Amino acid sequence: MLSREGAQIDAIYYCPHLAEGTVKEYSVDCQCRKPRPGMLQKAAREYDVDLSMSIMIGDTPADIMAGKAVGCKTVLVQPPGNGFEMAENPDFIAKDLMDAVTLVS
Ligand SMILES: [Zn+2]
Repeated sequence: MLSREGAQIDAIYYCPHLAEGTVKEYSVDCQCRKPRPGMLQKAAREYDVDLSMSIMIGDTPADIMAGKAVGCKTVLVQPPGNGFEMAENPDFIAKDLMDAVTLVS
């Protein structure tokens, strides 16, 4: 669907770790679990991305904190009625992903 519209996904990153988890090999205090920015830094290295020119769009405070930690502009996607306190304010607040894209284009 994305390629039909001229877009592509270069990579997908995820953190399999949980410091208090029950699977020993993944029970580590890693740098890739948000709000730490390890996944963003890894993507930047692997794809030569300038994070200061990048936009982190997410739906949790941890997403916003990770983006801010590496100098991204940030957009919180927060549907009406689904509010929470933010430790750090996002640059934009959007009601859905399409709204987020419109705000930053
Ligand atoms: Zn991790």
